[in-house]
Amino acid sequence: MRFLGVRGRAADAAQLALDFEPPAPPPPPAPRTAEELLARLRELGLQGITRCRLTHNRTVMVSYKAGELRIHEGYLAAPPDVLQAVVAFVGGRTRAARRAAQAVILAFRIERPAAERRPSRPRERTRPEDEPLARALAEHHARLNARHFGGQLAAIPVRVSRRLKTRLGHYAMAAPGGDGAEIVIGYRHLRRHGWEETLHTLLHEMVHQWQDEVGLPVDHGRAFRAKARAVGITPSARRLVGGGGRAAPTRPARSPAAEQLSGSPPARTPLAASSPPRRRR
Ligand SMILES: [Zn+2]
Repeated sequence: MRFLGVRGRAADAAQLALDFEPPAPPPPPAPRTAEELLARLRELGLQGITRCRLTHNRTVMVSYKAGELRIHEGYLAAPPDVLQAVVAFVGGRTRAARRAAQAVILAFRIERPAAERRPSRPRERTRPEDEPLARALAEHHARLNARHFGGQLAAIPVRVSRRLKTRLGHYAMAAPGGDGAEIVIGYRHLRRHGWEETLHTLLHEMVHQWQDEVGLPVDHGRAFRAKARAVGITPSARRLVGGGGRAAPTRPARSPAAEQLSGSPPARTPLAASSPPRRRR
């Protein structure tokens, strides 16, 4: 479509054509209840359905059985083509037709009701007495950035947290319209395990920062492991560090036991309280 970018006569002609078109009828108001939605779908050709129930959980968006249509409440706000697809999904003659309708239905992004959204808690701030630690961590961040990432990472705040209990550290992505990205390091971690282990953690979080900034998913997947190895840290979500007060191996992080833990539990599995492997995110 070459003429799309041309601002001259083609655009004027299109404008002219628009001007002469009769005004479109106003769209019908969005249905607000299951009954109104059912009525709307019938207008669009729905047959064989006598009851409609709105669902709230997202495991099934649209289903039907024995004359009853179950549909997520988010579809009350769906545009006509999506509602038309619901009709086609229920009444489609061929599997291909139903599958095409399903694609349209699932492509519609349902809005989560306000009640379902998690209220954003204001972020913890570094305590004044921990500010020197935070400044030191920020300097290490700059140094590690230059050394391992060619200085490409953004200079983001490194916060010291007294709330982190089971985790050593954490990378927080920027919240849309809210707080910017930051790295959080647990105060206890620093106190218990010392700077060398803490810098290992900082570097781990910086690999997450790198994932985020280059547009990769922030996880402990293959890209994470490859980059972690490249910067010289344990390529796993967990690693062994000296437990609180207990005798711990001097270089636990590189022990075979720690390596065996890579590929193990997904990021959110809770830690067993007594186990020495600690993890970060
Ligand atoms: Zn992590």
